Amino acid sequence: TGTLYVVATPIGNVTDITLRALHLLALADVVACEDTRKTGALLGRFGINRPLLAAHQHNEREVAERLVERLAGGARVALVSDAGTPAVSDPGARIVDAVRKAGYRVLPLPGASAAVTALSAAGLVNDRFYFVGFLPAKPKQRETALAELAQVPATLVFYEAPHRIDECVQALAHAFEPARQVVFARELTKLFEEVHRCTLGEATAWLKGDTNRERGEFVVLVEGAPARDDAADADADRILRILLAECS
Ligand code: SAM
Repeated sequence: TGTLYVVATPIGNVTDITLRALHLLALADVVACEDTRKTGALLGRFGINRPLLAAHQHNEREVAERLVERLAGGARVALVSDAGTPAVSDPGARIVDAVRKAGYRVLPLPGASAAVTALSAAGLVNDRFYFVGFLPAKPKQRETALAELAQVPATLVFYEAPHRIDECVQALAHAFEPARQVVFARELTKLFEEVHRCTLGEATAWLKGDTNRERGEFVVLVEGAPARDDAADADADRILRILLAECS
């Protein structure tokens, strides 16, 4: 019977495609992709020409049904997104869910993902990270989301579109302590790649320091909240109680 292959593609530099991805894509009966022009161009770079099927956030459910039919007929189906790993802040999860529920095999082909690439070059020493992806675009919802994250003791990983990076940085600087480290990983694997680390208090000035900085794709990493020192908290409570007793 058929298999669904979930194939990661590059996040910028096309030579980051894996040998296994090329091999599988060349053999696929159909390649489900977000944008047939983009995927067609990527495959074309490697001399691969396979039937493409548009699978984006607006038609994922219908496409899932069609793909399940193809799998029933024994097809080898590849799923890719425009860049990086499908289903990570990209369409794909609904298709994978439908294929699993229908009882077909799903095999991931690992490769680039902007979040992991940024983490690897950030130098933020913490074994844990919390993937947030895109923050809500509306200020009120964004504020609520950030308030919920303020005490998380893991590195926070945000994705941001270039036209919202300025707003995003202001919201982060407002929500978290200014001394927290922030890492901007911009245009990873591309010509104007840049990984800059500073404090949240310095972030807006850095961003405004060069108008080119507000262009391109960004991963923003924020140092996690300091681990709560329960002993210190208990001590503070004890002192507060003594002082209150003195006052009464
Ligand atoms: N599925 C992708 C992945 O695995 O990383 C993410 C796709 S999401 C629609 C696009 C966002 O990923 C961008 O807005 C940016 O935050 C981040 N991104 C993608 N490519 C990037 C790159 N080359 N440099 C920095 N960030 C990137």
